[in-house]
Amino acid sequence: MAAAVPYPGAPESREVETATPDVIRQLQGERLAALVRRSWDRIPFYRDRWKASGIAPDDIRTADDILKLPVIRKSDFEDSLRLHPPFGDYQGDFPAVRVQASSGTSGNPKPFFFTRNDWDIIARLWSRRFHAQGVREGDILQVVFAYTLFIVGFTASEGAMRLGALVVPTGSGSVTPSERQVKIARDWGVTVLAGTPSYVLHLADVAEVQGFDLRKDFRLRRTIHTSETMTEAARRAIEGRWGVSAYDNFGSVETGSPTFECEERNGYHVNEDAYIFEVLDPATHEPVPPGQEGVLVVTCLFKEAAPVIRYNIEDLCTFIEGECGCGRTFRRISKLRGRLSDMVKVSGIPFYPTSVETALERLPQLTREYRVTVDRAGQQDTLTVEVEVRPGAEAGDGIKRQLERELKVATNLTMEAVLLSPGELGRSLGVENRIKVRRIRDKRPA
Ligand SMILES: [Zn+2]
Repeated sequence: MAAAVPYPGAPESREVETATPDVIRQLQGERLAALVRRSWDRIPFYRDRWKASGIAPDDIRTADDILKLPVIRKSDFEDSLRLHPPFGDYQGDFPAVRVQASSGTSGNPKPFFFTRNDWDIIARLWSRRFHAQGVREGDILQVVFAYTLFIVGFTASEGAMRLGALVVPTGSGSVTPSERQVKIARDWGVTVLAGTPSYVLHLADVAEVQGFDLRKDFRLRRTIHTSETMTEAARRAIEGRWGVSAYDNFGSVETGSPTFECEERNGYHVNEDAYIFEVLDPATHEPVPPGQEGVLVVTCLFKEAAPVIRYNIEDLCTFIEGECGCGRTFRRISKLRGRLSDMVKVSGIPFYPTSVETALERLPQLTREYRVTVDRAGQQDTLTVEVEVRPGAEAGDGIKRQLERELKVATNLTMEAVLLSPGELGRSLGVENRIKVRRIRDKRPA
């Protein structure tokens, strides 16, 4: 495909978004070969690994050849940082103009470099997201993602500007207090909020405490999310309270802006001209049949500095079969099963903290805030769930027992519920400041 711009933004991207699978596969092959060639020349991290696996650049000519390359893990980047401080040997010898870092849940932040070109392409891919999710010129889009080393606040802003939306960069609650965020959204007639599901729900709580009617006093039409898993329960809560359509996207600092939900909201379309997504058997790293669950492995085709090439996301998903009603031919993946790192085994049963949201949905007296603590008493694992009562709601032992029953149904595990006062849990979780809210604590002895 001879597009004027190799990785077009929306709406020009429509052509590639509806290209035939053969055209896409061809494009992927050419781009993969070029990626491997330049990474071999300039990125020791990859060259050393490929050499060790007996791979030379000439071995990679088509998209199918990707199977020859070794899969890398998060720990490989961590090892590289330890051996080659401070930036590791995976950044490559490119004219980088910017560094962002992934939030280190298990240690130090991991830096990733961006060339001017890398940055511009990610901005264009963000514009595809916003366009598919209904953002247009004339929209007033308030970005309530944090502007930090974590990439999302900046790239979301750039993508929205490209579409001609007016960006209101208030950032997270730690730079613009939530009360002021709400007032700006109201007074300036904001039509789109872009932020984490946790914070957008928190803003609903704050607006209600201030006495606003969420559906009457605001011009909001949509909310756009990423960087934190949005459960369907959270989506329903956001849509029900704000009276909007809420959209989710999967991406990260390492990968950039690889996917988007379209108006059909039935999985994430993969920007297949810019990424190769593979769903593999976790043990053998062989592709699993379509429709079957496997571990997600991502290759970013366009990035010059610090590209991820067969990067194991360490989370499970499936390719969704069949055509999408929107007419795009980009394949779709399911929602990721819940970052595997957030999953804990409790009494031998896998437990995903987000499953608590399904139970909370049935109790209007409670807010959506929660924190789960896993501990051990004797030989027995114990689970405690702290939740928060809504301002003005009556909640006592009846609600506590009802929540415990709902939790049992949702998770098959027995938990003790603890009811806290309005605002108490949100404060201690740092909902206003955090990129991702950690809702689980594991206090069991190792
Ligand atoms: Zn679609």
